[in-house]
Amino acid sequence: MEVPYELLGKFFVFLAVAVLLATVLALLLGVYSFKRHKIIFPNFILFVLYIFYSPAKWVCRVFYIKEELVDEILIELNNAMMLEKFKRMRDGRIILLPQCMRGPECATRCDPIIGYECKRCGRCDIGRIAKAAEKYNFKVFVVPGGSFVRKILKSCSPNACIAVACHSELTEAMQDIAKTAPVQGVPLLRDGCYDTKVDVDEVIKKMELCCDV
Ligand code: SF4
Repeated sequence: MEVPYELLGKFFVFLAVAVLLATVLALLLGVYSFKRHKIIFPNFILFVLYIFYSPAKWVCRVFYIKEELVDEILIELNNAMMLEKFKRMRDGRIILLPQCMRGPECATRCDPIIGYECKRCGRCDIGRIAKAAEKYNFKVFVVPGGSFVRKILKSCSPNACIAVACHSELTEAMQDIAKTAPVQGVPLLRDGCYDTKVDVDEVIKKMELCCDV
């Protein structure tokens, strides 16, 4: 049987154009939603941007737009869609922090079950977040990476979760966590895998959302 190369070629060109158009449309809808504070077609945006995550970043690069825009849309959209459910959770709440937020002189070691156990020495923001977490009844986990997040989710089956990470890791982690519990994400202000920073007040505000304290 003769292979219909011409037809196949046309089909793949059509497919590539369709993917590109869907990706650009999802990006435009995402930007519009946040500019107007009104989310339109959230499931379409989430579906397209998660499936075509790399092409969406490529589109941003082509138009000289920062690549994090894709992550920002996904994080904010997930936050908005899970907010009401998150607020209703009164127990089983956890907060996941990346180990790169630890101070350069942090002496804690990584426990294979719970990650790094903060001693609240005050040398980094984790200590401040841990103190607030005690007040708002959140269990803190300082984790070394995405696979550890999945381990924590499996071992403690949380009802609600706050996650902090760099943009790309947070986007991925929120997709995993959302299968188990409503999640609110806060991206790092300064990433780079070493001595990273987060807006601590923003994290505490997220804790306050589902607390009556
Ligand atoms: S506050 Fe906690 S995580 Fe930060 S340096 Fe001290 S012990 Fe380490």
